[in-house]
Amino acid sequence: MIEFNKAPFTGREIAYMQEAMNGHKLCGDGPFTKKCHAFLTERFGAAAAFLTTSCTHALEMAALLAGVGPGDEVILPSYTFCSTADAFVQRGATLVFTDIRPDTMNLDEKKIEAAITPRTKAIAVVDYAGIACEMEPIREIANHYHLTIVEDAAQGFGASYKGKPLGMLGDFGCFSFHETKNISMGEGGALLLPDLSHREAAEIIREKGTDRSRFFRGQVDKYTWVDYGSSYLPSDLGAAYLYAQLEVCDEINADRMRTWNHYDEALRPLAEKGLLDVPCIPEGCVHNAHMYYIKAKDLAERTALIAHLKANNVQAVFHYIPLHSAPAGRKYGRFSGADEFTTKESERLVRLPLYYGLTEEDSETVIRAVRSFYKA
Ligand SMILES: *Cc1c(COP(=O)(O)O)cnc(C)c1O
Repeated sequence: MIEFNKAPFTGREIAYMQEAMNGHKLCGDGPFTKKCHAFLTERFGAAAAFLTTSCTHALEMAALLAGVGPGDEVILPSYTFCSTADAFVQRGATLVFTDIRPDTMNLDEKKIEAAITPRTKAIAVVDYAGIACEMEPIREIANHYHLTIVEDAAQGFGASYKGKPLGMLGDFGCFSFHETKNISMGEGGALLLPDLSHREAAEIIREKGTDRSRFFRGQVDKYTWVDYGSSYLPSDLGAAYLYAQLEVCDEINADRMRTWNHYDEALRPLAEKGLLDVPCIPEGCVHNAHMYYIKAKDLAERTALIAHLKANNVQAVFHYIPLHSAPAGRKYGRFSGADEFTTKESERLVRLPLYYGLTEEDSETVIRAVRSFYKA
């Protein structure tokens, strides 16, 4: 069976994790965490970067830092992973789901303004498949209505929009290093801050509400509990694993890109014949080969396609059940306007196997199985 995903592993992780263990200091913010922070701030031009235990936790930090609270509304796509929503539910906010664009599966920038009310506090954008939303108009809307933009860049590591890296498009950028993402530490994530205004507050929230970071910098002579916080920092063992991958992140993404391009060259002709749909990469967007998906005609065809692929030893998967139709989504939010594309498009989408190290022979098998389904 060609698996849908395999956790990325380069081989160098072992030596770094051994080094971390030799140092006998495995708690958070150790030497490897510092190396990761330096790498991330430099690579993304961020004012500060913080490793977290997950992207979900990076989003929780962003929601706290943005001051989202009870009575506030947050606009987000219904077509996303539940973590995008969880962070704001935890703060007592109401979710306002908006429709997506059928071409990119991203939040439709033209439908945001209709969802804004006097209670709107933030817009959570999701870089689906490592492809940015139309951020220029979204930024204009956010500025005009004084809204914070939280960027769920869980899938966006290494991609860009008009020359700007994903993760740096909003006021808070959140990456995931879960094992299903391009760069991984098993479970983990990062929060990027484009400017310094929230740096100290972020340090405090991440360290149980203490000013421990100031203490380590020698700015205060003892550390104390100064505000609400949680424990969002990962062990240095995880950071050691991650650092090995960050060092070769371009190679990892280039390897995935070869598979992505192989799929695209083979399957785009089927799209041109009207048999299926393939991803759209808008002008100005450079993606990171996080995902290759195809879209079947409808739910029935997708179910048959997934079964056909399975019979041909190919594990293909679909996602997401739109949040507004999930039990928690109904409880915590509402859909703004008409669900023109969210449900319909989500029922058509199938993700093909894509991971670091997937061989050309295997991607050829996947392509053959898709072609045979469409008798192409
Ligand atoms: C993977 C993912 C998350 C969650 O990431 P974790 O690191 O597992 O918390 C959030 N949002 C999106 C869009 C994702 O793809």
